[in-house]
Amino acid sequence: MTRLCLIDTEASRRTPAIEAASRSAPLRVLILGGTAEASEIARRLADQSDLSVISSLAGRVNQPKIPDGPVRIGGFGGVDGLLSFLQNESIGAVIDATHPFAARISASAESACSQLGLPLIAFSRVPWAKQEADHWHAVPDTERAAAYVAKTAGRVFLAIGRQQLDAFASCSKAWLLIRAIDPPDVSLPANTKLLLERGPFHIEHELQLLRNHAIDYIVSKNSGGQATYAKIEAARLLGIPVVMVDRPQKHTVPTVDTINGVLANLSRLQLQLAAIQEPCAP
Ligand code: NAP
Repeated sequence: MTRLCLIDTEASRRTPAIEAASRSAPLRVLILGGTAEASEIARRLADQSDLSVISSLAGRVNQPKIPDGPVRIGGFGGVDGLLSFLQNESIGAVIDATHPFAARISASAESACSQLGLPLIAFSRVPWAKQEADHWHAVPDTERAAAYVAKTAGRVFLAIGRQQLDAFASCSKAWLLIRAIDPPDVSLPANTKLLLERGPFHIEHELQLLRNHAIDYIVSKNSGGQATYAKIEAARLLGIPVVMVDRPQKHTVPTVDTINGVLANLSRLQLQLAAIQEPCAP
């Protein structure tokens, strides 16, 4: 099985998919999205005439922010579905710019690109780093965060979105403020207030939220990025602890952690594909 992050120019790594991509103009690029960075990448590539970019969203939220350019919405149907999509759409390169906690789609992308020998550019945001004034209790996953909350009384700001809320169903000791973009489709514990809000959030808003609800501690994923960081800053300023859920291990290929890094890798890939088609100098 061929495993590629970016192509190199060795003949041995010229898979049929790479040969095909080198012949296709414009290059067809699939962006796996659902993040601000994926939308920004789509925006910055939209005007490039040598690229034909399609963004993909899972369809989790009712009114998604639609990226620039062509967009498809909904799961592919696992690895096999993604393989079919990549082949049917003659995709020449994939950019995985999904959320750091979206591990299944990234595993599908790695598997499908590996099987086809397609270049995959994997983006991963820098995680938030604990500052001196932070009081973080790190847990490896949402289930462990739920186990912590189940043992603990107090007023909790549960800021993990609406997926995986079922893990908190038996948390009867605590009072929960749950924030999500759309209403959760699982039944919530009795002592719950649901707040429907969409980021980005600002520090004044988060300070007021924590104070108004007399929050004792926050449960957060270590998502990284700016859009939801204000609650972490607000917790620091108010001396409120944070149960911080660590990220899943989602990539086995090397990743880049900036949008510019993604775009630079894509440009490099285009140069490499162009070089495949150029005749050798005598
Ligand atoms: P996940 O667990 O990795 O994915 C579950 C399934 O949803 C995948 O197997 C795939 O279905 C489909 N899917 C996910 N992302 C997709 C995409 N960009 N395009 C098409 N299908 C996609 O992901 P998740 O945690 O449910 O997150 C879903 C989406 O929301 C992701 O795109 C992610 O970027 C975004 N998001 C997630 C979080 C979070 O905390 N998890 C936060 C903000 C945004 P098939 O197997 O049928 O292909």
